[in-house]
Amino acid sequence: MTRPKPIARLLHKVKNHAFPLFRSWPGPRAIEQPDKRIADLVQLCEDRLRAIGALGSEIAELRRSRSSLLDEVSALRSAAAPYRGPAIPVVLGVDVEPNARAVDLRDPSWDATTAFFSKTVDLRNRVRTISGAPLHITWFPRADPQVEISNGSADWALKHFEAEWRIAQLEGDEIGLHMHPWRWDEVTRGWCQDHGDEGWVLQCARSSIDAYRGAFGKTPAAYRGGDRFLSNAMVRLLEEEGVQLDLTLERMPGAARLVEAERGTGNIPDGENIPPSAYRPSSADFRVPDPDKTSGLGMLPLTAYEQETLAPWLPNIRFEEALDRLLAAAPENGLTHLAFVARSDLANIPQWEAYVDNVISLARRVREGRLVFKTASETWEYIGKSRSQPPFDESTTS
Ligand SMILES: [Zn+2]
Repeated sequence: MTRPKPIARLLHKVKNHAFPLFRSWPGPRAIEQPDKRIADLVQLCEDRLRAIGALGSEIAELRRSRSSLLDEVSALRSAAAPYRGPAIPVVLGVDVEPNARAVDLRDPSWDATTAFFSKTVDLRNRVRTISGAPLHITWFPRADPQVEISNGSADWALKHFEAEWRIAQLEGDEIGLHMHPWRWDEVTRGWCQDHGDEGWVLQCARSSIDAYRGAFGKTPAAYRGGDRFLSNAMVRLLEEEGVQLDLTLERMPGAARLVEAERGTGNIPDGENIPPSAYRPSSADFRVPDPDKTSGLGMLPLTAYEQETLAPWLPNIRFEEALDRLLAAAPENGLTHLAFVARSDLANIPQWEAYVDNVISLARRVREGRLVFKTASETWEYIGKSRSQPPFDESTTS
């Protein structure tokens, strides 16, 4: 196979030491002339900066070239062995949150969320070009006491991003709700994630749902607990409030805290044995399906790979490999859907590029007919229609 041009060019440059990066500095002999030595070193530093810049453009070109090659692979794969089975729905979720977890009250910025919305415009266009279908996102904005204390009102993000929510809904997206039970401690002037106080956690969920109703005039259909925290009491509350779907669960071990250095109480429950498929939970344990249940909260666990969450910001080569293995094993592996959720601050960190590559990987499978982008509620309904028996009773979905 002929090597793509950018790779050949880069290898040639490296081989022929074209980058100053690969040349050595003059060495200790210049010590007698410190001024000259300093000037030489500064020059070498600048050479290295130029080399880094050149490598950066080469890498960007290689990324574009790799993406086109993957498009070709996808087209050939489709032509050689067209897929005739049912498409699996894929949920792409975004937790819409302040930049920081333990928010600094002097700088409660949501800049990364603004950046996420802005970058989504290009992402939607790329997905539509590749897959021929729209990207339906499920947004999970926060409206809990941390937002109220940091930004002045619980519904701050629901109001501040009003224009973005309008556009999202026009694009066919869904707006769910995300919640973290952070509690402000006046004594330490810091945050404590108070999972250990069940009353507080439920109160945070209830007030978030109320703020959502105030802004959107309806109950959120989909909920996501922060730091994958869920409990039987929370499932009962969500059912009482009329929430229809939960996307909190991830196949990960239990832990005291997601970020060890943060303050918190209680525990994040063990999720190592949660099913990969959609289900309605047993009232004794939300992590266990109750096959006789035909109403109440539905669970859409996030997609796992080899005993842990398949994060959508992993390097694309790992994500592609995991995706191929999961799809090759379906439907025998009980895969009813795929679900990936990212935090909105992803837009401002280097992993954003891997995230885009991974969404494009999903878009190629949409073009091949293997996947279909759907919101959380659309996914539940779609699974219900493809199954004729409980637990997916169509009358309880929206
Ligand atoms: Zn969160």
